[in-house]
Amino acid sequence: MPKTSKSWAMLNAKCPRCRRGNMFEGGIYKLGSNGINLNCPHCQMVFEIEPGYFYAAMYVSYAMNVAEGGFLWVATFLITGNNDSPWLYLATILGGLFLLSPLNFRYSRVILLYWLSPKVHYHPELDTDMPLDGNSYKWFR
Ligand SMILES: [Zn+2]
Repeated sequence: MPKTSKSWAMLNAKCPRCRRGNMFEGGIYKLGSNGINLNCPHCQMVFEIEPGYFYAAMYVSYAMNVAEGGFLWVATFLITGNNDSPWLYLATILGGLFLLSPLNFRYSRVILLYWLSPKVHYHPELDTDMPLDGNSYKWFR
């Protein structure tokens, strides 16, 4: 039985426990369906571990925005060599961060659940094509 790699599961925003079910309802840039599922459709893990859990994803999102803004600033300087106008940097950084915001929203939650949640562990026995009995795996073990 092939096991799903962690990097592939993170890139595709799969459930951190079974690496099978989708964490989000639709595509990253599909408007109107970017919400996170309440439960994993495969193993029934509750993604929002406690009320307000995803507020912590704001800190991850903040760090991602700072890194991306720094990258855009350096890239703008290297491409244009601009030393005169701050408006070019401001427009590039704000526009770039606006375009990246759906990606930040999604991957900040993925990073929070995969790397920053010590109680969430991968369960290889759930990483299977067989349908699972949802109730027996609903809560953490
Ligand atoms: Zn799952």
